[in-house]
Amino acid sequence: MSATPSRIHYTRPSITQRETDYAADAAANGWGERCYDYIHRFEKLFCEHLGSRHAIATASGTGALHLGMAALGIGAGDEVILADINWIASAAPIVHLGATPVLVDVDANSWCLDPAAVEAAITPRTRAILAVHLYGNLCELDALRAIAARYGLHLIEDAAEALGSVWHGRRAGTLGVFGAFSFHGTKTFTTGEGGIFVTDDDALYERVLTLSNHGRARGETRQFWPERIGYKYKMSNLQAAIGCAQVERAEELIAGKRRIFEAYARHLAGLPLQLNPEPPGTRNGYWMPTLVVDEGVPFEREALLARFKADNIDGRVFFWPLSSLSMFEPRPQHRISHSLARRALNLPSYHDMSSADIARVAAHVTAQLAA
Ligand SMILES: *Cc1c(COP(=O)(O)O)cnc(C)c1O
Repeated sequence: MSATPSRIHYTRPSITQRETDYAADAAANGWGERCYDYIHRFEKLFCEHLGSRHAIATASGTGALHLGMAALGIGAGDEVILADINWIASAAPIVHLGATPVLVDVDANSWCLDPAAVEAAITPRTRAILAVHLYGNLCELDALRAIAARYGLHLIEDAAEALGSVWHGRRAGTLGVFGAFSFHGTKTFTTGEGGIFVTDDDALYERVLTLSNHGRARGETRQFWPERIGYKYKMSNLQAAIGCAQVERAEELIAGKRRIFEAYARHLAGLPLQLNPEPPGTRNGYWMPTLVVDEGVPFEREALLARFKADNIDGRVFFWPLSSLSMFEPRPQHRISHSLARRALNLPSYHDMSSADIARVAAHVTAQLAA
């Protein structure tokens, strides 16, 4: 028997001496009057990276979304429109606030919100559109911004998967009323767990700052004096130390994701499948290289995953339509969402992947589609 082939991880962070030095410094010195130093530095660095005015580091991406929507006053009786194909984290805060997630079908090319479906789903109860940039792919932001403006709705960006994605010169996360990012260990930048809320709106920033700190306003001089019930969704200084190193390496980390995607694109060219799109005028951060086999082409996704597994490669299925989960109403009419999900697979894209690793994964895809 030959030895087990080396493991090809699905994702894994890129951690250098810089991350471990900052984390060690935070652990040794980041207490007392210095207990917020890395947090404030991280927020400033992230604002500079993104080109946004304000940022508040949070314990998770889910927390950043929850805080932002709470600060917009989204609550019982309200509806928020989002794509049917999504990770549950985008929908959960809507439910936690007592509002209703309204799922709509996706666009076949972007795999994100179809603006026509969004417009058709608007009711007098609609308060916001949640634009999730899936796998780095950008939503149709001009169309969504126009719809939001026409109907007086908030456009929110869940940019957790869109670090490095750029819409006509502006980074994803800066084009709506607020943006949310995640620094979970699988994301392009990581702090282990963590997230960030970003906005250009001064008043919204102050409201989220208060909410994120148990309802204690920044200017409050009384000790232990919350003005309302808030949340405790702050990032720790230790996590922010790692985050500072990651943002300082932003261009390198994003370029690495693009290098992996482009290598896959070369290997898989000519096969009957689509990879993450990058329409003119945009840049895709390619968080997760994903293939969607053309409709009508025989494709056994489970067989390809089994082939990966046998060669110690970790591939993942595309997100299921949320409407196929037990807590939502079934939406068989969302034809594109259901069809895409069956034909799609995420390819491994951990930062230190070698060209040989990429070739090994691609060879299985080629062989499976020829089979
Ligand atoms: C990862 C992710 C989240 C949640 O982030 P957490 O930090 O895990 O809470 C939210 N939305 C999208 C699109 C994500 O990919």
